[in-house]
Amino acid sequence: MKGMMKCEECFDLLLDYLEKNLDAGTRQRLDEHFAACPPCVNFLESYQSCAEMAQQLRDQLVEIPQELESRLKAFLREEVAKG
Ligand SMILES: [Zn+2]
Repeated sequence: MKGMMKCEECFDLLLDYLEKNLDAGTRQRLDEHFAACPPCVNFLESYQSCAEMAQQLRDQLVEIPQELESRLKAFLREEVAKG
């Protein structure tokens, strides 16, 4: 039978849903599930804010790795020079 999508299926597709990687049909099935399943909407919302937080964290960290990388390279050069 062509029943509603299961919650587990939703969880698997959640990331693609948020990143809009799903085809229209799958997306619609998810929307239908969310319309009928408030717990999944709650989960989606907390997942989304989590993802946004991670994104913001990544944005803030963008400058650090370059600094870290040059330090690491300098360190490695010294180590190599030492033999
Ligand atoms: Zn659900």
